[in-house]
Amino acid sequence: MKILIVEDEEGLREALIRTLTGEGYLADGAADGDEGYQMICTRLYDLVLLDIMLPVYDGLEVLRRIRKQGFDVPVIMLTARSTLEDKVEGIDLGADDYLTKPFAMPELLARIRMVTRRVTGSVADNRLRFGDLVLDTQSYTLECSGKARSVRLGAKEYQLMEYLIRNANQVLSREQITQRVWGYDADAEYNNVDVYVSFLRKKIKFVQSEARISSVRGIGYELEAGSE
Ligand code: CA
Repeated sequence: MKILIVEDEEGLREALIRTLTGEGYLADGAADGDEGYQMICTRLYDLVLLDIMLPVYDGLEVLRRIRKQGFDVPVIMLTARSTLEDKVEGIDLGADDYLTKPFAMPELLARIRMVTRRVTGSVADNRLRFGDLVLDTQSYTLECSGKARSVRLGAKEYQLMEYLIRNANQVLSREQITQRVWGYDADAEYNNVDVYVSFLRKKIKFVQSEARISSVRGIGYELEAGSE
């Protein structure tokens, strides 16, 4: 799961990135409203921690813009301002939760778990489900419900599978997948994506799932539940 932290205070931003990385999340930072908005638009993130008081434009404006664009990524607002009006405005604009600074890291981690559980609906027991596929987020094993076989995924296979499941029924470009799984700085080639998709297809077939990763010519891939 990948989290974007939009926070202009560098010390806090770096501390959040370190804490979340230590908890096993992937985390990136953005330092102002515009950078945060641009990064959210890449669709690479499963959750956004969004400060309200930001340079360029503020967190409420970022939230307004992303919801207007139809991005339904969960957002937890972070702010030093704890006025009721801010909170009401944030919730009205589609924030999922709200945390007033200063906050303790365990509280933030609890809110993150709560929001992601509510949004994905079915990550109870550390399992992510789509169609008949079951992905264990702790052991990295892939199973098919009702079938006996399971298979363990490698780290990159797991990240790719998780990204596909969390964005199922949406076309993801090779570029999005490369950035998400290998990172902005990696010199991974787009054809890595094709190679790893072929690995996952074999594993999906092995566990006897009906789900399939469809190729969308010239663009990328889409995970579908199959059986129609
Ligand atoms: Ca701030």
